[in-house]
This record gives sequence, C-alpha cells and structure tokens, in this order.
Amino acid sequence: MTASFDTIDLDFDRHHIWHPYTSVQNPLPVYPVRSAKGVFLELEDGSRLIDGMSSWWSAIHGYNHPVLNLAVASQLQQMSHVMFGGLTHQPAVRLAKQLVAMTPEPLQKVFFSDSGSVSVEVAIKMAFQYWISLGVTTKNRLLTVRSGYHGDTFAAMSVCDPVTGMHHLFKGVMAQNFFAEAPACRFDELCLPEHIAGLQQQLEQHQGEIAAVIIEPVVQGAGGMRFYSPDYLRRLRELCDRYEVLLILDEIATGFGRTGKMFALEHAGVVPDILCVGKALTGGYMTLGATLTTEVVAEAISSGTPGLFMHGPTFMANPLACSVAVASIGLLGSYDWQASVQRIEAGLQRGLEPCRSMPGVKEVRVLGAIGVVELHRPVDMATIQRQLVQRGVWVRPFGPLVYLMPPFIMQDEELALLSAAVCGVVETIL
Ligand SMILES: *Cc1c(COP(=O)(O)O)cnc(C)c1O
Repeated sequence: MTASFDTIDLDFDRHHIWHPYTSVQNPLPVYPVRSAKGVFLELEDGSRLIDGMSSWWSAIHGYNHPVLNLAVASQLQQMSHVMFGGLTHQPAVRLAKQLVAMTPEPLQKVFFSDSGSVSVEVAIKMAFQYWISLGVTTKNRLLTVRSGYHGDTFAAMSVCDPVTGMHHLFKGVMAQNFFAEAPACRFDELCLPEHIAGLQQQLEQHQGEIAAVIIEPVVQGAGGMRFYSPDYLRRLRELCDRYEVLLILDEIATGFGRTGKMFALEHAGVVPDILCVGKALTGGYMTLGATLTTEVVAEAISSGTPGLFMHGPTFMANPLACSVAVASIGLLGSYDWQASVQRIEAGLQRGLEPCRSMPGVKEVRVLGAIGVVELHRPVDMATIQRQLVQRGVWVRPFGPLVYLMPPFIMQDEELALLSAAVCGVVETIL
C-alpha cells in the first residue's frame, strides 16, 4: 500500500464531515490519529501525545488494552450483533449481573441502550411512564439544577444548563422544565438548608407537576466541571421522598471510579430511583449505556397501561459492547483502582499547583482523577489546542475550563508531564 493511500484525507474531512459542535464554514483544525496505546495517542506524523481526556471520560484503562481487545475479538467470533427483541445472550446477562451487583441494592432492573444520551432519554421516559401508570397525569415535567449536562438529544438537552445548553436556540421545540440554582456547597462542606432552599422552593411550588429530579451526583461535568457536597444529595433524596418525586442520578461521567468511588453516589450513600451509566462502562471501547431502576418503578410501569416499558433500540445490548463492558468491569476488579485514582488525585494536586497563582486562573480544583483549571475568561479553543499539542499532550478545553481526566493507568511521570504542559500553556493566558 502506498503512503498516500494510507494518509488521512484531511481536506475531505474538512469539507464533508461534521465534528462535534463545529461549523462547516469555518471548521476548527482536527488532528489525525493513527493509533492509540496505553496513555498515548499517536498522530499521523508519528508524534505521540499524552492523553489527558480519556476520550471524554471513557478510556479509563487506556487504549489498546490486551484484555479488552481479547474480549471484543472473542465475542466477534461468536456474533457481533443480534436483535434483543425475543433473544438474549451471555454478554448482556453477565453485564446486567455485574451492574446489579455493583450498584445500590434496590436497583434491580437494567435497560441497555446505545449511548449516554439515550440512557437519559430512557430514564426520563421511565419516570414519566411511572406516574402515567399510577394514573397521575399532571406530573409531566422535570426539575434539575443549573450547570448540569445530560446529553444532546431532546429530552436530555431540556435538562442541560439553560445558559450554556441550547435552550435559547431550541425554545419552542424543547420541553420546558424547572431549574434551581447549581449546588453552592463545595465538596468538603456540609450542605446547609439555604444551599438547597431554591430547589426545595421549586418542589414546594410545582410538586404536582414534577415527575423527577435529575442531577449528576457530586460532579457536574460538561456543564461547568463543578464539584459539590455529597451532603446536598442526601438532602435532595429526603426532599424527593417528602414531595413524592423520583430521583434520577446521571452517573454517565462519574461512574466506574472517576471520582474515587466506583459510583459518585457512594460519597453520599444515597439510592436513586433511576440511575444512568455510559461512557466508561465499556472502558471507552464501544458506545453503550444502561439505565437501572428499582422494583417499585418497574412494577408500577408494568402494572399500568399498556403494561410495557415503551422503548427498544435496534442495537440494544450489542454483544460486542456488552462483552467489552464485562471485561472492563472485570479489570477494575483485578487491581486496586482506588489506589490508582488516589495517586492520580495527588499527582494532579501537585502538578496543577503552579497554576493557582497565575493571573489568568480563577480556581484550580481536583477530585479523584479529575483536575480542573478554571480561567477568568473563555479560551480560544483552536489556539490553546495547538499549543497543547505542541507540548505533547491531548487536552481539550471548553469555555474557561482546562481540565484533565487521565486514564487510571497513567504513571506519575506522564502525569507530571501532562500537568506541566497545561501549566505552561495556562501561564501564557492573561
Ligand atoms: C456525556 C454525558 C452524557 C451523554 O452521553 P453521550 O454518550 O455523549 O450521549 C450524559 N450525561 C452526562 C453526565 C455526560 O457526561
């Protein structure tokens, strides 16, 4: 094969392919990746970048992992896909067993779907169908907090932060929900009544219209990279019980160890009525989401009319994705991942420390394997991206946020290089 045949046609890409959140008139540069292994992305020109993103929270074990590769390869020999209507298979059953075992005891029913956003759609539909099945027809809206992110599909989008989300753009076609202020109590603080008063007021006022509260536990991801007190979640659970609304926890970003616990809800010890997982579920290998719920919710849906949960994607429980998810969860069970996340937390604290005193920096915060440098002003994405790549790291800032969430396997030396590159670039920002 000739070299030119191998070369990625960037010109074609530029003219014909939409990348996330881009314009076709003025697309931002994209970097051609040839391969990825461990914590490195290898670009087409042969340069290697230390990966600080885990491909959007997902590649917790790094890339090209022999155990995960084997899981996909062996499943491929059996079948890559079969429909899930009327059929079942070992990878789905094994994965559901793992998910039921590792999440809070009341969560017993698993619905598989294709992505995080779809798992959120499913969660919202479950909440609505629950109330419809009980004959309560007025509870058809959601309550959430600002600075959240739950996905890009319509129901998910309707509970994203109304300012950074796309609310103004899709006003009129998007469901209108209720918003309370983002949790103001910090991770290591207690949550005082005034911290949750706004949310309580919404519940007080709209109790009869609200089907569920949806929130990302402890870490608000793409809506602002904010950490808040687990105590807030405990109070929220009490309020949901008191005002008779369901609680949906979206663990799509936080699940599978990222915050130092297997699930972020463990920081608070709360049990949701519905739980969404995705992203790191497959170790970043394939797209897969799952929505778990309780016997209570599932039984109510099944006892109403039509008595069926009305959802069923074509690629539901894809066997390749389920197999690699089983292997990824198995990998987490095979070593002391908590020690790794703690080591990364310490490394990020150390490595990002110099940023704290830089003029462009508003705040540096670290929790588990998440490090955030919040700037005073939004960055120019294309410029900062190029500078980071020149320094040999892959980090993709958004707005005023330069953040790191490395694979759990990253060693201290690479972590130090990654943090130093970020600090080096941030230093140039005023
Ligand atoms: C990424 C994300 C989603 C959406 O998942 P997709 O797989 O991108 O559809 C939903 N909720 C949270 C918290 C996320 O971080």
